[in-house]
Parts: sequence; C-alpha cells; structure tokens
Amino acid sequence: MKCDLIPFALSKGQDLYEALSRLATRHRITNALVICIGAVQKATVAFYNQETHKYEDHVFDEPMEILSCTGNIVLKEGKPFVHVHAALSDRKGRAFGGHVRPGCVVFACEGFLRPFKGKIERRFDESTGLYLWRL
Ligand code: ZN
Repeated sequence: MKCDLIPFALSKGQDLYEALSRLATRHRITNALVICIGAVQKATVAFYNQETHKYEDHVFDEPMEILSCTGNIVLKEGKPFVHVHAALSDRKGRAFGGHVRPGCVVFACEGFLRPFKGKIERRFDESTGLYLWRL
C-alpha cells in the first residue's frame, strides 16, 4: 500500500461522514489518518454516554465552521470504517463538537487521507460498548 497523502475536497451538499466513507472505498483504504477543515451548512455530532453506552446526538441547524475534524479509517467487520470527531464553531465563534454522524452537510471541506501500513481492526469491547482498536 502506498503511504502518500491523498488530498480531497468535498462538494457543497455532500454528507461529511458518507463522503469520507466513499473516499475510503474509492481509494481502497483499510487504514488511514483523516484530517480536514472547512464549513458545514448544518451538523449532527454526538456525545457517547459512558453509562448508557448510547450516542446522544446534538443537531446544529445552522452554518458552522469545521475548526478541526480528525480521526481514522480502520477495518470493522472487514470493511473500512470511518471514525472522526469535529470541533465546530458558530457565527459568534462559540465552539462545539463531538463524534461526527451522518447529517453534517458540507458547505466546503478540504483535507487529507494518510494511509498507513499495518492492519488495525475494530472489535467489540464489552466494558465500553464500543468497537475499539485491536492492535
Ligand atoms: Zn467517536
């Protein structure tokens, strides 16, 4: 596998999470670092409740900056799985963020995928209720 930086630019109207998943498939990426910035027209990010083991969505129905969106793509049940978190800011500069869910509609977004060697897979972890890295 090549280990180059793969630049990408997402189009207005694309769903951030779905677009990153499609990029992973298109470039046949099984392991990569993801980083991007830009803006969204609206956003859905989540907080993982450590007691209930459920994601609690926060919906922001307004334009926001993507201050920083970072995470990774590794295999989960044999398929590339995108896991990214985003720090977002509103027009007053207030920052919010969380686990990126479908529902983040891109206004503009630019970033890089950085594939890496090795094989990290996610496996279900009983104590957290999450699919965590198995190195
Ligand atoms: Zn997360």
